[in-house]
Amino acid sequence: MIHLYDTARKEVVLFEPGELVTLYSCGITPYDSAHLGHAQVYLTFDILQRRLRDLGHETRCVRNVTDVDDDILRKARELGVHYLDLAAEEIARFDRDMDALGLIPSWSEPRATSAIPEILTLIGAVLDSGNAYQSGGAVYFDVSTFPRFGEVSHFDHQTMLEMAAEHGGNPEDPNKRNPLDFVLWQPSLADEPAWESRWGPGRPGWHIECSALVLRELGETIDVHGGGRDLVFPHHECETAQSESATGAAFVRHWLHIGLVGLDGTKMSKSLGNLVFVGDLLQQWEPAAIRLALLSHHYRPDWQWTDGDMRVAADRLSAWRAVGATSPADGPGTDEWPAGEVATGVPLGSDEDGLWRVRAALDSDLDTPAALAALDDEAALGRPVVQGAALLGVTL
Ligand SMILES: [Zn+2]
Repeated sequence: MIHLYDTARKEVVLFEPGELVTLYSCGITPYDSAHLGHAQVYLTFDILQRRLRDLGHETRCVRNVTDVDDDILRKARELGVHYLDLAAEEIARFDRDMDALGLIPSWSEPRATSAIPEILTLIGAVLDSGNAYQSGGAVYFDVSTFPRFGEVSHFDHQTMLEMAAEHGGNPEDPNKRNPLDFVLWQPSLADEPAWESRWGPGRPGWHIECSALVLRELGETIDVHGGGRDLVFPHHECETAQSESATGAAFVRHWLHIGLVGLDGTKMSKSLGNLVFVGDLLQQWEPAAIRLALLSHHYRPDWQWTDGDMRVAADRLSAWRAVGATSPADGPGTDEWPAGEVATGVPLGSDEDGLWRVRAALDSDLDTPAALAALDDEAALGRPVVQGAALLGVTL
């Protein structure tokens, strides 16, 4: 039985999905390389899927690619390249990095530009349901029509306003009825891509692509949705409002948000230029060690990356490997086991014990640091930890 923290309910709850588990993690805007913050998000979804598959579930995890938005258009303009060429290059690099880290491949990796017809249909449905309006050539979601707005993030009005401003929500836009209203469709600038629509030529707002892709790829209601903690508001709050307005169904059963990775006391971000790139680490370290370095931090709180993390992870991997090939016959004799070990019912020298301890740790809100500590204990006793490590996606 897996227990997981749910952002909307603000507590650890029993996670009881059906046989098929549908998951959607918000993907990248492909205009720069993947950094450790990205890796931590997708690794968390990877670990959850591994445990679910271990329990016999089928998992389908979709990760979208935001190949048209303000950031990628700005970067393409700076570089003087077509935005889709920039996207293609960065998507290939991102996929290489994630493959190298051994992530379970996404069930699908749809691009925002593949979903323009679905986006237009969805915006039409939100207008039809009376939750959106046209103004100044754009279509806005009308938050006053959705009383549950705020029930994912639980932020107060002032905090929502500040965060919307910080994340390009443009609360000052004079075409809006309410500063928290958000764009579903917007006119394109002269050098930006534009698609025809019945509200005039333009391009999608940021949030609508994920709602359209969730609906197209996985259905009206999904089991797990999430991403980095900084997506809770406005992104996921807005996705929920527009999706539930259009379908009338609950959008997400469980919200999973991952803490941000910092460096030297500040959040790792493109704008601050303090990024540690996965590709750079892969040049120096083996992927299994990078996985272990990330898994040594629980997914939920924010944390700081330090150079020492990789050394600790590499040493841990060596210690596990040192006992990894030990067969029961090679293990220490019964007399050498500490008192109590025999009572576990696990064959001496077997790595079943480590596997069960990893399972228990993961079932407790994906407590990967506890899982690693359990395998450290096992290895210290001279027991192989091959199966436990395998459940964490680490091949010894
Ligand atoms: Zn999203």
